[in-house]
Formats: sequence, C-alpha cells, structure tokens
Amino acid sequence: MAGKLIDGTAIAAGVRQEVAGGVAAMAARNRRVRLAALLVGGTPAGGLYAQRQAQACGDVGIEYQLVQLSGQTTQRQAIDAIDRLNGDAQVTGIMLHLPLPAQLNAIELQYRIDPLKDAEGVNPANIGHVVYGKTLIAPCTALAVLELIRSTGVSLIGAEATVVGASEIAGKPISLLLAEQMATVTLCHLATRDLRMHSARADVLVVAVGKPGLIGRDDVREGAVVIDVGINRVKQADGSRKTVGDVDFDAVREKAGFITPVPGGVGPMTVAMLLKNTLRSASLLQSIR
Ligand code: NAD
Repeated sequence: MAGKLIDGTAIAAGVRQEVAGGVAAMAARNRRVRLAALLVGGTPAGGLYAQRQAQACGDVGIEYQLVQLSGQTTQRQAIDAIDRLNGDAQVTGIMLHLPLPAQLNAIELQYRIDPLKDAEGVNPANIGHVVYGKTLIAPCTALAVLELIRSTGVSLIGAEATVVGASEIAGKPISLLLAEQMATVTLCHLATRDLRMHSARADVLVVAVGKPGLIGRDDVREGAVVIDVGINRVKQADGSRKTVGDVDFDAVREKAGFITPVPGGVGPMTVAMLLKNTLRSASLLQSIR
C-alpha cells in the first residue's frame, strides 16, 4: 500500500492561519510585526523570491520591508545596514537573502543579526540555544521538518532517525531538533561509508543533500516516515524542466508509511515557519521591552 502523503501546503496553510491570529492579537495591543529582508545585488530570482515573500507576509498581516543594496556593497556597508535594522524599533525581524555577491561573508553577517530579531534562526546564539534544549528561534527548515513529522502522529521518542546531509542550514539543525525530541539520531554526510545501512533502518528518514534520486526503494525501511528536503531542477526527456527532491518519490512511496512530495512538502512549510519565527521574534522583543 502506498504511503500517506504529508501535504506540506495544507499543513503550512494551518500555520499561516495561526500566525495571522497572533499578528492580529499583537496589532490589537498596538504592536507591529515587521520583517526586514536584506537583498544584496539584483538577480531576477532574488527579486521574485522577495516578491513572493512580501506576499506571504502581507497575507498574514506582517509588514514587509525590503532593503535592497547594490551588488557592489562592501562587507562594512552590509554590516552597517544590519546594525541599522538591529537598532530600528519598528523592525521586529530580519532576514538575509542568499546567495550573496562573492565579496560578502554571509556567516559574519548572520552573526551580526540581533538574535532576538533573527527570523531565520541562523545566528549561532540561536543554534546554541537549541543545543541546550532552550530553543528561542530555530532555523526555519529544521522547524518545518519537525512539524511535518509531528503531523503524522508518529512518536519521535526512542525512534531511530537518520538525517542525510549535514549542512549548517539544514542537516545539522534538523538532527539537533530530533535529538531534542528524544530520537536516536544518525547524521550522514559525504564521507558516510554505508549510507543504506543507516537509511534503511530508520523509522524517520530526513534527506537534505541536493542530489536527485539519492534515496531509492531499497534505502528505506517499510513504513518509515520520509521527509525530503532536497530541491533539484532536473531536465526531462522532452527537454522541459521540473523540480524534484532527493528521494525517488514514486518508488519510495510504495514502501514508506508517510512521505513528503517535492514540491509541496518541506518548501511551503519552511516559508510558513519563517512567518511563525517572525511573530515569535516580535513577541520576544515585546516581552523584554
Ligand atoms: P549543502 O550542499 O550545503 O549540503 C549538502 C550535504 O549533503 C553535505 O553535508 C554533504 O556532506 C552531504 N552529502 C553530499 N553528498 C552526499 C551523499 N552522496 N551521501 C550523503 N550525504 C551527502 O546543501 P544544503 O544547503 O543543506 O541543501 C541541501 C538540499 O536541500 C538542496 O537541494 C537545497 O536546495 C535543499 N534545501 C531546501 C530547503 C527547503 O526549504 N525546502 C531549505 C534548505 C535547503
């Protein structure tokens, strides 16, 4: 029997509704929720993404402020821009669009964002809080993965969870949040000797690598929860392009208990978690002001 589809779009809609309620409650107390997004350089993809983000914020009542800097911006100028947003009482959340032009150091800029305004949860202070089990604001993709697993009703306590991919933005924070939920976590990466040995015994398998078809039917345990974070544009036989994940969806769905589609799984949920984090930032700031 085919595994149940985890409908990220529908679950994200529920989160957005919840966020809209929270933003309205803040507004009723004359508190604004405003996300400032820093976009450096002018690629069409970046502009389109910012436009979609503005729409997503507008839909839940979050004010959106796009701060556009030229592609020639120096590190000093980018730091100054972040410092201005950190000091602006009207701004309650800040995010930095990636990728950045080559002359800029993304990590240094992420370090600079006030941890309380860190809507993407990328400041190391916030990652550190996750390590200590005192999460303030966690990375959006990791939160999205956790919410999607929760939606299945499968308990993480004592579960074997394998995370494939160990980046700072996806795999590592995902494995931290899973460990916080009392799963037994295995983190696999490029140097893992026998990936299948780890993936095929997982009750919960999260794949965040960026390689289409990396996980096939034999790599998955019968009845597992499979969360596909990967986003890959692939060329089809007729020359057109489509977006797929890292998991061979049709083959794995036959065996999995639950599975996320790509698109329509982790992607929309990550956007919803950015909105939720933005509301959380505003509430945290309110509680300390
Ligand atoms: P990355 O390139 O920074 O990291 C990839 C990781 O995969 C590394 O840890 C590497 O060691 C590991 N890896 C590479 N080949 C492997 C293999 N054969 N076996 C096991 N591990 C292997 O990538 P990233 O930024 O973490 O992104 C990963 C994928 O997730 C990409 O497709 C990206 O587009 C997608 N992504 C999606 C979202 C979302 O919201 N849906 C968010 C972030 C990233």
